Amino acid sequence: MRTIAIIGASLAGLRSAQALRRQGFDGRVVVVGDEVHLPYDRPPLSKDFLLGKCEAVPLADQEDLDELGAEWRLGVRATGLSAGEVSLSDGTTVAADGFVIATGGVARTMPGTHVLRTLDDATRLRDAFAGAQHVGIIGAGFIGAEIASSARALGKEVTVVEALPTPLTRVLGPEMGAACGQLHGDHGSTLITGVNVESVNVDGGIKLADGRLVGADVVVAGIGARPATDWLAGGPVDLNNGVACDAGGVTNLRNVVAVGDVANCAGHRAEHWTSATEQAQVAVRNLLAGETVATHANGGYVWSDQYGVRIQFAGRATNVVRVEDGSIEDRKFVATYRDDRDEDAVVGVLAMSNARLFTRFRRDLR
Ligand SMILES: Cc1cc2nc3c(=O)[nH]c(=O)nc-3n(C[C@H](O)[C@H](O)[C@H](O)COP(=O)(O)OP(=O)(O)OC[C@H]3O[C@@H](n4cnc5c(N)ncnc54)[C@H](O)[C@@H]3O)c2cc1C
Repeated sequence: MRTIAIIGASLAGLRSAQALRRQGFDGRVVVVGDEVHLPYDRPPLSKDFLLGKCEAVPLADQEDLDELGAEWRLGVRATGLSAGEVSLSDGTTVAADGFVIATGGVARTMPGTHVLRTLDDATRLRDAFAGAQHVGIIGAGFIGAEIASSARALGKEVTVVEALPTPLTRVLGPEMGAACGQLHGDHGSTLITGVNVESVNVDGGIKLADGRLVGADVVVAGIGARPATDWLAGGPVDLNNGVACDAGGVTNLRNVVAVGDVANCAGHRAEHWTSATEQAQVAVRNLLAGETVATHANGGYVWSDQYGVRIQFAGRATNVVRVEDGSIEDRKFVATYRDDRDEDAVVGVLAMSNARLFTRFRRDLR
């Protein structure tokens, strides 16, 4: 291979470029990104950035970027992929022998709301917070909860609305989801669950399906993201809730791999920082080999910082949950999820403010 094009200039794209060089690829690397910024880290956006404690955090310094020797095509969108080339929104094309799809996710939105996916979104939200007294958040997932926590730390009145009976049910199950949801009340935010949002009023406020009205000067939708695959529609790469690929990131075309939030690897699409990083190493190896020679473990690790509590989760949630250490009431504990058919098998672990023990259980996950 002489030229490899990476589409998406963020975490998974950058890590892929770095992995290519580390694995000995000395050909041309072109990285295409529709944001104008060089790769920056997203996790701080909902945390220290909103609090005004940091600005954009680069994922690589200038020296590292220089060493990579990649060509950066920033501020242009990829509009299509055909055998051998990517078309760009400025009318040009990039011809390549291999392709890494790393276009991540696009925040789902609702009329009248802010979203938080990009640095530009975060800047707009930080500005909006400055003049707000009451912040309404739709969705109590990890990002919604982090935004709530930051807004509260800024002294705002905060209401979080969640459609499901408990937050984070799909990721952590109802019991542990409820445990995370209690953090809101502990810190003076209001959590309303089990009700849909009917509309968001332009002059502020959220109208709930049961008729209640939640006053808010700023409303943020934290209702997840969809995979950024529009540009691939109708092309040769198979799509299915993201870019369909095997457990090594290889798509139906052997010279095209997918990594990060956009990649649906063997039926599982992880939307976490660590998976994006891990997948890049493996997918690039397979790209250079021309076949799947390695697969990623998909540990499903995610962390979230809310109200001064670090939540860590790895593996998968089941209905059999045991608190192994500490207590939910103290907001400091480690819990394990057991296989439904074999309770000795630990298949998932969740911790609040106990990184040391979390790491121990995580190491032994089946
Ligand atoms: C606010 C926030 C906080 C987070 N906090 C945590 C956390 O605490 N812990 C954790 O584990 N994870 C967290 N995450 C998730 C983590 O940041 C993502 O999993 C990670 O960014 C995924 O990287 P990616 O490169 O696959 O996708 P992205 O970071 O979404 O990057 C994809 C890039 O591709 C670009 N792109 C899209 N379409 C095109 C196109 N057609 N042409 C060119 N470029 C395109 C996008 O603009 C973007 O720059 C957070 C995410 C957000 C948004």
